[in-house]
Amino acid sequence: MSSSYYADTMEIKGDLVKFMQDIIRIPSLSSEEGAVVQRIREEMLKIGYDEVTVDPMGNLLGRIGSGPRVIAFDGHVDTVDVGNASLWDRDPHSGDIEDGILYGRGATDMKGGVASSVYAGALLKKRGIPDNVTFYVTATVQEEDCDGLCWQYIVNEDGLRPDLVVITEPTSLRIYRGHRGRMEMEVHASGISCHGSAPERGVNAVYKMAGIIADIEKLNERLEPREPLGKGTVTISQIRSTSPSLCAVADGCTIHVDRRLTIGETEATSVAEILALPSVQAAEATVTVLEYAVPSYTGLTYPTRKYYPTWETPASEPAVQAATVAYRQAFGREPEVGHWTFSTNGVATAGMHNIPTIGFGPGHEHFAHAPNEQTEIEHLVWCTAFYSALVDTFAEG
Ligand SMILES: [Zn+2]
Repeated sequence: MSSSYYADTMEIKGDLVKFMQDIIRIPSLSSEEGAVVQRIREEMLKIGYDEVTVDPMGNLLGRIGSGPRVIAFDGHVDTVDVGNASLWDRDPHSGDIEDGILYGRGATDMKGGVASSVYAGALLKKRGIPDNVTFYVTATVQEEDCDGLCWQYIVNEDGLRPDLVVITEPTSLRIYRGHRGRMEMEVHASGISCHGSAPERGVNAVYKMAGIIADIEKLNERLEPREPLGKGTVTISQIRSTSPSLCAVADGCTIHVDRRLTIGETEATSVAEILALPSVQAAEATVTVLEYAVPSYTGLTYPTRKYYPTWETPASEPAVQAATVAYRQAFGREPEVGHWTFSTNGVATAGMHNIPTIGFGPGHEHFAHAPNEQTEIEHLVWCTAFYSALVDTFAEG
């Protein structure tokens, strides 16, 4: 059951857990991550990371080593809000531990992955990092609002393009190879307003939209499952209309469309699919992919379209092989492999930039965004052990 990686981690377990409690106690909603980033930076400096920088967007990059093969362990440090506090059994920012379980907003999603990877760096400092490897921990921002935006920035603006990215979101200690993508669109139909007492003089945009809504509902039923990620989906999350008054025919109607994307479905195919609906053509409706442009905590705005591509790293990819060998070395048994239900920063590293990407993290996905969010302390220890083993197998591969 145990390995030298696990035994080495047990020696630093106290510091790892204390650090995890500290970062759980610092609230960090999207675009409000400044304080927690500073706390993680302090810990990296205390451990002796070779370089610790905060980029203009506010992402924290900690580096150890300077070899040609670059591996990055990514964890976003923002969390969703507490929600209805009365559903929590304890203070959502308590960081309390009971029976080996640590509680608090962000325990699963995903300060555990951050704490474990920061402390994998502590193991590397102790025993020495392989000469040919550069190890990064990226503590990134705004993921809950716009997954992948931070990694668009890191690759395009910071100029960091690792050979392997490990997304440390919760996987219940399994190796994950991808997830469905998603996008947000608006469909708009125009009409001609007139006095509500004689609607036949105008063209009602809401009536045009009624046909489009029915077609989109049928489209969702037609979408085909594709292995291994299953079926994409389409649904309407909002509708609104305009008219000169509440006593007039509506001259505009807009729906907000949430589209989940499986293998082979992209922004282009999804827009084309909506434009091809008979009702959309009859109404001469327009389709727009929405934009995200919210400032980070540093005040930087980095606009992007709300398109988050599907990604799936093949089982044959060397990264998956390296992770499998590292798992055997750390755990002494064969790994389970799977995929996330939710979306991660992999949409940018793998989906947009084609960087080999895998997932491995502490905690269980079903606790994410839920009351009484929690993770097992043992998961933190195992993840730190696995991450340090992966640096070794990555160095060899
Ligand atoms: Zn997350």
